[in-house]
Amino acid sequence: MGKVYLVGAGPGDPELLTVKAARLLASADIALHDSLVSRQVLALISPAAEIIDVGKRAGKKLLTQEEINSLLVSYAETREKVVRLKGGDPSVFGRAGEEIEALRKAGIPYEIVPGITAALGAAAAAGISLTDRRIASQILLSTFSRGSDGSAIDWGCVGSTTTLVLYMPGADYREVAEQLRDGGLPADLPCVIVSGASGPQQEIRWSNVGLLASEAKLPAPALLIVGRVASRDVAEIGRSFWGGDKANRDLPHTRLV
Ligand code: SAH
Repeated sequence: MGKVYLVGAGPGDPELLTVKAARLLASADIALHDSLVSRQVLALISPAAEIIDVGKRAGKKLLTQEEINSLLVSYAETREKVVRLKGGDPSVFGRAGEEIEALRKAGIPYEIVPGITAALGAAAAAGISLTDRRIASQILLSTFSRGSDGSAIDWGCVGSTTTLVLYMPGADYREVAEQLRDGGLPADLPCVIVSGASGPQQEIRWSNVGLLASEAKLPAPALLIVGRVASRDVAEIGRSFWGGDKANRDLPHTRLV
């Protein structure tokens, strides 16, 4: 019986792969990857390996999660080294939990090889620090569940020293902006949209919660970093946005550069 490696492919730049991930790619018998994994990373997979794209493209699902789970189990019965390659880190919005459960149930050994998650790739691309002892003491990686469920964010956890990183912000920034405002975030709280972090098409747009609704959409994959660190001028936002006075929470104003 083989082993399944849940490998993080990082945000795109192959140089951001771990040494271990690169070694596993070069020696895999079979690799199953998502559509987020960059071509440059796929090029590092052993030429002898079978490569299967199990990802979604333009909203079209190639395989269901259940089908992917069964594939992993059946390939592990016939191949020695099965690599399940996921964009970023497998354990962050990567459905690794469901795959791990299927492997455990089938008694198949597995190992997780961490990768650089998009939040870290995006912060590096924007040249900002996600924590900052002056203004940001916690990071919340989250996403919106769209549709009738409303927001999946626990707003109770979001304070003036939180850096919020929103994965999968979707096509409509208005909807995201509305939810941020409903969650109590002030209109002049900075945010930055990072698209294609670390890749050749990387784009960065500096904005704030109030302006976000009217920003033109950046190409997927993109994520949003919201918080006082999401500015190129952190010194300027040294004062508390909330300051205990909810009525005045839109002050002070952050100059966008
Ligand atoms: N497991 C992945 C996340 C998968 S969810 C990770 O750890 O990064 C897919 C979302 O990740 C995208 O909708 C986007 O919000 C974000 N994402 C992935 N790669 C990205 C990149 N290179 N630049 C910006 N956002 C990215």
